Amino acid sequence: MVRFIMLGGPGSGKGTQALKISKDLNLTIIATGDILRQGITQDNGLGIKAKEYVEKGELVPDSIMIEFMKKRLLQEDVTKGWVLEGYPRTAFQAEELDFLLEDLVQKINYAIYLDVSEETMIKRSLSRKNIDDKLETIQKRIQLFKQRTTPILEYYQGKHKLITIAAEGTIEEVEQAIFKETKVIN
Ligand code: AMP
Repeated sequence: MVRFIMLGGPGSGKGTQALKISKDLNLTIIATGDILRQGITQDNGLGIKAKEYVEKGELVPDSIMIEFMKKRLLQEDVTKGWVLEGYPRTAFQAEELDFLLEDLVQKINYAIYLDVSEETMIKRSLSRKNIDDKLETIQKRIQLFKQRTTPILEYYQGKHKLITIAAEGTIEEVEQAIFKETKVIN
């Protein structure tokens, strides 16, 4: 049973790699950024709550995200293993996730951190067309990534779960590096 957490700043390739890995290993992907953006487009309950934050590049409050994940991880499709993409994003989310997984008797195998320069984050994000891929918003997201998300790298390091991947290369190179480090294939 494979359970991965994919960590990285905006434009780090975490969405692309999470999708590829989930397809290759037949895992359920839970990509919170995509789920929120979709919720905003569909104007559903979660989207309405999240809109003002996502559009400004702010983090959606922990309480909303934790409540969402509690329900999501109880759904049937998570039993085949999963990749979380963009979650957890704060120390509080990381700790709450551990409590939740303890209750569910599930353990993560690895937290995979895709390490890229700030320049790459900006360049890649600007080439996309999401509602939150405008320069000012991207800069806010990078700042929040540094302030709020990088501390959780240490959290997973302390639990001997962290794998750092140099992720400036091509999609294939990065995926191969992930497989090599996690030894899930070969
Ligand atoms: P992403 O596509 O992962 O970069 O996420 C896009 C946006 O969705 C972020 O800038 C946040 O506004 C919001 N978001 C996604 N995941 C989370 C999370 N775990 N906690 C708080 N906000 C989140």
